[in-house]
Amino acid sequence: MNPLRLFHKSFDHGVHPAHLKEQTCDLPMQRVPFVKEYLMPLGQNLGAPSKSIVQIGQRVRKGELIAEAAAFVSTTLHSPVTGTIKEIGDFRNFDGNFVPAIKIEADIYATQQSDAGNPIEWQSLSIDEFIQEVQNAGIVGMGGAAFPTHVKFAIPEGKKIRYLLINGAECEPYLTNDHRLMIERPEDLLMGAEIVRQKLGAEETVIGVEKNKPEAIAALRQHIKPGDPVRLVPLHVKYPQGAEKMIIKTIFNREVPAGQLPRDVEVNVNNVSTVVAIADYFERGRPLIERIVTVSGPGITYPANLIVPLGTPVRELLRFCGGLTDATQEVIMGGPMMGRPIATLDSPITKGSSGILAFTAAETSRRKEYPCISCGRCVEACPYFLNPARLARLSRARLFDEMVNYNVMDCVECGCCTFACPSAIPIVQLIRTGKDDLRTRKETPA
Ligand code: SF4
Ligand code: SF4
Repeated sequence: MNPLRLFHKSFDHGVHPAHLKEQTCDLPMQRVPFVKEYLMPLGQNLGAPSKSIVQIGQRVRKGELIAEAAAFVSTTLHSPVTGTIKEIGDFRNFDGNFVPAIKIEADIYATQQSDAGNPIEWQSLSIDEFIQEVQNAGIVGMGGAAFPTHVKFAIPEGKKIRYLLINGAECEPYLTNDHRLMIERPEDLLMGAEIVRQKLGAEETVIGVEKNKPEAIAALRQHIKPGDPVRLVPLHVKYPQGAEKMIIKTIFNREVPAGQLPRDVEVNVNNVSTVVAIADYFERGRPLIERIVTVSGPGITYPANLIVPLGTPVRELLRFCGGLTDATQEVIMGGPMMGRPIATLDSPITKGSSGILAFTAAETSRRKEYPCISCGRCVEACPYFLNPARLARLSRARLFDEMVNYNVMDCVECGCCTFACPSAIPIVQLIRTGKDDLRTRKETPA
């Protein structure tokens, strides 16, 4: 790989949606009060769901293991509160589907302070022991993908990691949870990064932050000492720069070919929240039991950046933020480009929940759809060099198998094509339909 260059261009294609971060970017993180019940879905990560190890009626302490990893590509769950296991069964998730989960009733008399955990002597751990500890901590990619982090650290024989890339792009409009974490916990971020850098044997840590977060850039700069193997790279603002392959292209000018991973170009990428979670575990013995969530959008009375115990119902966050305005039409989980509508406000915050956004008719009303005029704007917008117009046409004709010939599975559902389309064709939704059909048929034996 070429030596690192500060590549002031960007990845190819992509779009420039309005940032819309001003509602929350200056709001310090605040802790939500504890509530009565918490719901911990067993499948909070990509890969195999965790396996419950608790019984109904069992008392659990905050931070205690309640579900273990079911496979290597799986992770653990810990109780977000001190309380009692109330139910184990199927509950409705944010997308409306029933998923297995553990319901915990919080103990109203408990202090809900975490037991002081013991720091872990990470310097002396072998790489395999380190990977095992990251799995024990239940840490996943917290930018939204929720891929188990320990799996990313398992570098196959013959490969090496030269750069640890910390992803502080936070390119989705509205979301500012990573922004606030960089401002308020820069030392922990740098500590977590240094732990990972040393354990992976990387030469340097590179932190990429979009230039619309000047306070975050300043806070990190202030804490990087001369001689530290850390480089901070301010990035032009562009969506979807937070996608791993895009931020690698921007910073290193390297393409990660379809079907390959960042490690194939000697890079390991982690989101800022994930790296802070690593510092929390190794420096304080605290597993992943809470996360920062941005609650924003025109339908929220008092937008906020909240420190939320996992399992807290969305309804409680909205209540804490003064509730929804009467004009609210839709609540979504995640950012406006890749997020999904929430089917029930009783669904819980999980490890991948970066934001809860409430939209009014102005943001949700569907533009009138017109026929495709073959303008090519969707093709120009697609950062994965797909032909979204063709994929949408095939999906509409239910020619799902043919979509495979046009690399539909490389689509990351970033929504750039839909954003760019002057005919208001719901391209990404059509592509999603095709992908869902292909996946379902693959999983269901004929
Ligand atoms: S949603 Fe898929 S097809 Fe559309 S721009 Fe993103 S990657 Fe390309
Ligand atoms: S942007 Fe819309 S109108 Fe233009 S080619 Fe793509 S689908 Fe057709």
